[in-house]
Amino acid sequence: MANNNKKHAGHLDGAEMTAQGLSFKGVIMEEIVDKCEGCERILEFQGKKYCPSYPRPAGKWHFGVCNFATHVRSAVDKEGKVKINPLKASKRAARGR
Ligand code: SF4
Repeated sequence: MANNNKKHAGHLDGAEMTAQGLSFKGVIMEEIVDKCEGCERILEFQGKKYCPSYPRPAGKWHFGVCNFATHVRSAVDKEGKVKINPLKASKRAARGR
């Protein structure tokens, strides 16, 4: 447990780069997608970004907004369309209200 100095470093402890991609706890992790950018859950491993919550972030966004995203929130407008609203840092801080 030497490299505990980085924020969240523990989450990808034991991850290994393999020919298939980053292997973590027996699961191949795919890199995050553009829509994840800004999410506080993103972790970097060897210069690439991964999500500790979902090994396949792209799949998470396939059906709309990722429900674990910390940077955006989905809202359904009157016509039933899903809208993606960026969350401001200040709103995030107030989230725990
Ligand atoms: S929690 Fe969702 S938005 Fe955040 S990095 Fe993971 S998949 Fe992307």
